[in-house]
Amino acid sequence: MYEHDVIVVGAGGAGLRAAIAAHEAGADTALVTKLHPVRSHTGAAEGGINAALQEGDDWELHAYDTMKGSDYLGDAPAVETLAQDSPEDTMRLEHWGMPFSREEDGRVSQRPFGGLSYPRTTYAGAETGHHLLHVMYEQVVKRGIQVYDEWYVMNLATTDEPDPNDRTCHGVVAYDVQSGQIEGFKANDGVILATGGPGQAFDHTTNAVSCTGDGHAIAYRAGVPLEDMEFIQFHPTSLPSTGVLISEGVRGEGGILYNEKGERFMFEYGYANNDGELASRDVVSRAELTEVNEGRGVNDEYVYLDMRHLGEERILDRLENILHLAEDFEGVDGLVEPMPVKPGQHYAMGGIETDENGQTNIDGLYAAGECACVSVHGGNRLGGNALPELIVFGKRAGRHAAGEDLGDAQIETGYGEDVEVETDADLPVTPGEVGIEPADDGVAADGGVTADAEGLLERTVERERERVDRLMDKDDGIQHAEIRQKLQKAMTDYVNVFRTEEGIKKALKVIRECREEYQHVYVDDPSRTFNTDLQQTYETRNLIDVAETIALGALVRNEFRGAHWRKERQERDDENWLKHTLISWNGGKPDIFYRPVILEGEEKTYEPKVRSY
Ligand SMILES: Cc1cc2nc3c(=O)[nH]c(=O)nc-3n(C[C@H](O)[C@H](O)[C@H](O)COP(=O)(O)OP(=O)(O)OC[C@H]3O[C@@H](n4cnc5c(N)ncnc54)[C@H](O)[C@@H]3O)c2cc1C
Repeated sequence: MYEHDVIVVGAGGAGLRAAIAAHEAGADTALVTKLHPVRSHTGAAEGGINAALQEGDDWELHAYDTMKGSDYLGDAPAVETLAQDSPEDTMRLEHWGMPFSREEDGRVSQRPFGGLSYPRTTYAGAETGHHLLHVMYEQVVKRGIQVYDEWYVMNLATTDEPDPNDRTCHGVVAYDVQSGQIEGFKANDGVILATGGPGQAFDHTTNAVSCTGDGHAIAYRAGVPLEDMEFIQFHPTSLPSTGVLISEGVRGEGGILYNEKGERFMFEYGYANNDGELASRDVVSRAELTEVNEGRGVNDEYVYLDMRHLGEERILDRLENILHLAEDFEGVDGLVEPMPVKPGQHYAMGGIETDENGQTNIDGLYAAGECACVSVHGGNRLGGNALPELIVFGKRAGRHAAGEDLGDAQIETGYGEDVEVETDADLPVTPGEVGIEPADDGVAADGGVTADAEGLLERTVERERERVDRLMDKDDGIQHAEIRQKLQKAMTDYVNVFRTEEGIKKALKVIRECREEYQHVYVDDPSRTFNTDLQQTYETRNLIDVAETIALGALVRNEFRGAHWRKERQERDDENWLKHTLISWNGGKPDIFYRPVILEGEEKTYEPKVRSY
C-alpha cells in the first residue's frame, strides 16, 4: 500500500495545479494518473485563458459575462472567485515560463472570444493547453512531487454510513497498467479527483478517448451527487469526419461562417445580430444546425469556416496549428479554402458537486477541473473559461485538502433533508444495479461499521482484484466496445443540441439495455500487463452511469436554458428553473433533487436578463 497526505487523481491542468498547491501548503502529495501528465487532454486546448489583465477590463466584467454566458445558472460565489483569481493565477503561469503570445510592445496578447465584452483571452499561439501542461509539469518535477503515471484508478475507498454526507474517503485503489498490479493508495488528508470530462459518452466529440468520466462515476457510486449533467456543450467548429476541434480563436481573429449559399448566416438570418460568429457557443451551434436542417448546409451536414482573408502572415503567427489540423484531418488547406465545420460534443458544464473550496459532501473527497461542478459555467461555458477554472479551483482544492483555511464555503453540497426532491417526473428507469455489482459497490466497508483506514483500503483492493478476476475468467459474453458504441450512438442521436422528450426517453431505454448487457461483459485479452481491454471495460461501465445522469437531467429539465434546448418548452423558465439539477445514487436508483442557484454576489445580485448577442 502506498501512502501520502494528499492524493490527486489526474494530472491534467487541474490535477497538476492542485498538486503544486497542496505541496506548497506542506502536504506530502502524489499524482496518480492513467496517462503521463503531458498526454492529458488539457494539451488539446487551443484558444486560451480568460483573465482580466488589461486596463479597461476588470474582474466584474468577466464575472458578468460568465454569469450571462451561463444563462444565469452559475453560482455567484464561484463565478466571482474565478474572475477575481484568474489574473494572478494566469500571471503566475507566465512567471513559471508560459510562452504567452505577445504584442509588438512586449505585453501579453489577448484576443476576443465568444460572449466576452472585452478581448480577455490570453493565449500561446493555438497551443495554449500544450504549453500549460508542460509548464506545470516542470513545476511538479522541480518540487519532487511523486507521480504514479499509467496507474488507472478503479475506485475510491470510502466508508459506508447510510447518509452519504457522513462518509469519509481514505484513498483510492488503482491498477498499474504496466504490471497489472492492483494496489491501495492511502490518503491521510484528502483525495482530489481531477479526471477530466466524459466526452466519450458521445460518438462525435472533440474529446480524447481518455475522457471517460471515471471520476464522475466513482464519486457518484460512492454517494456524491452529480450536478447539472444535462448541460453539455456542443462546440460549433469541429471537423466533420473526426470531431477534431477548430479553435474559437479562428473566429476570435476574424474567421467567418458561411452556409452553402455563401451567406454569412449568423447575420443574414438574425441568429446574433450584434456578435455574429462570436456569439456564445450554444447560440452558434444551434444556428449551424438550423442552417443544415433548413437545407442550407453543405452536403446536408456542415457549414464553412473561412479564415483566408486574415492573410498568411497572421494565420501562421497565431493559428498555425489550425492549418495542420485542417490539412491532416480533413485534407483542406485553410490558406486557400474554407474549412468544413459542424457542432461536436466538447465540454461538460456539470459534474461532481463541490463547493468553492473543491470539497464534496464526503469528508476528504475533493474534485476540480472539468470533472467538477462548482458551479462556474451553469448552462453554458464561455470559451476560455475552462482553463482558468483549472488553475483557480485546482489551486483552491489543493490548498484546502492540505489543511489551509480558505474560509467557509457559501455553496452547499450533498443530499440533505432541506432539498427539493423530484417526485413528479415519469422516469423510464427501473431501480437496478450500477455497472456489474450491487448498488453499494462503490463503498467498501460493510455493516455500517467504519473500518480503520488501512482495513478499508485493504478490503477495497480485495474487491477490485476479485472483480478483475471475474472479468478475466469469463470466456464469453459481450465485449465492452459493442456496448460503448451503442451508448455513444444513442447519446449523439437523442441527447444532442436539439432535444425532445421522446428522444431522451429512447436514449434512456438504450442506456438501460447497455446496463443489462454489461452484466455479461468479459475481457478477451488474457494478459495481465498493458491490458487496455480491461481498462476500457472499466471505463465503459463509468460511461454508462454518467450517460444516464446526462439523459435524466435532460429529461427533467423541461425548459430551454444555455446549451439545453427542449422542443416542448423553447424558452427559459426562470420561475421554476433557477435551480441546479442534482442526481444522487441512493439505494439502487438515481434520486433527483434540486438546489437553488446563488445569484447574490459580493456586492450585487445578478438579475436574469434576456440573453442576446
Ligand atoms: C479540443 C479542446 C480544446 C479546448 N480549448 C480550450 C481553450 O482554449 N480554453 C479553455 O478554457 N478550455 C478549452 N477546452 C476545455 C479544457 O481544455 C478542458 O476542460 C480542460 O483541459 C480539462 O482539464 P482537466 O485537468 O479537468 O482534465 P484533463 O486534462 O482531461 O486531465 C484528466 C486527467 O485525469 C486522468 N485520469 C482520468 N481518469 C483517470 C483514472 N481512472 N485513473 C487515473 N487517472 C485518470 C488522466 O490521465 C488525465 O491526467 C478545450 C477542450 C477541448 C476538448
